[in-house]
Amino acid sequence: MAIIVPCYNEEAVLPETAHRLLELLAELRTRGKVDDESALYFVDDGSSDRTWEIVEALAIREPRIHGIKLSRNCGHQNALLAGLFTVPGDAIISIDADLQDDPEAMHAMLDAHHGGADVVYGVRRHRTSDHLFKRVTAEGYYWLLGRLGVDVVFNHADYRLLSRRAVDALVRYGERNMFLRGVIPQLGFNSAIVYYDRARRFAGTTKYPLKKMVAFALEGVTSFSTAPLRAITLFGLFVSALSFMGGIWTLWERLVNNLGVPGWASTLVPLFFLGGIQLLSLGVIGEYVAKTYIESKGRPRYIIDREL
Ligand code: UDP
Ligand code: MG
Repeated sequence: MAIIVPCYNEEAVLPETAHRLLELLAELRTRGKVDDESALYFVDDGSSDRTWEIVEALAIREPRIHGIKLSRNCGHQNALLAGLFTVPGDAIISIDADLQDDPEAMHAMLDAHHGGADVVYGVRRHRTSDHLFKRVTAEGYYWLLGRLGVDVVFNHADYRLLSRRAVDALVRYGERNMFLRGVIPQLGFNSAIVYYDRARRFAGTTKYPLKKMVAFALEGVTSFSTAPLRAITLFGLFVSALSFMGGIWTLWERLVNNLGVPGWASTLVPLFFLGGIQLLSLGVIGEYVAKTYIESKGRPRYIIDREL
């Protein structure tokens, strides 16, 4: 069994995280839940602080700690992939570096795995550790994804166990921008859910500022659903039908009732309204075109600089 921990500028939490996870690993071993080769793998996602130095020092002291250093900041999802596709083991658990996800939930995750689950999702019981804005946007987002037909596990982030079989299947997904929360349910293997209480960040600050979060959210939608494109078409049809009826009405007023054009308000309002809709629609189409462009280049998702 392997535990992978993506780290981006996590010097503040790393020593504590390593300590807690090592203790847990030892306990899992004595209880016979994991094999003797089980280890911790820290994936340094191109940190600019002392993260890698700390990983190096830990790896020298502890034989169960390994490090993978990416050549630059490739993003959380890619750091996870680098870990998943590099480390050995019959099962791999991914967990954030900041101790928000309760490591003790791994007991239940491994039990579910031994009971036959290839994928075990860590799902947070509630969102009380989030501030209001994050809570509302996150829950609204999961709801929206569901409505768009994307199969996601509600309130599950990237705390999960994958069996070797599941990881091997994941390798076959070729997309460059991998939205793991959407791809993994598509694998279709036996899965289980383990609930846990999510704490606040142990130390340090979030590595997901609003800008990154919006990009990640858009990624999730455009990777798994073309419903927004369909919505544009439907809306275009609706507006066309409306303007057609409006045209007939205007002609009727002019020719039959012999009324002049009542004013320019009725001309200007739809003009601006439609202008806005058109720009928005172009933007949505642009998102998909850009995505095709990025994917078509087939660039590597991550580059490993060093392994310990
Ligand atoms: N992370 C990463 N690369 C990035 C951003 C984040 O590897 O570019 C890692 C980060 O170190 C942490 C995990 O992803 O282990 C989740 O990030 P964070 O806890 O900051 O997100 P939040 O919990 O605030 O959503
Ligand atoms: Mg966090």
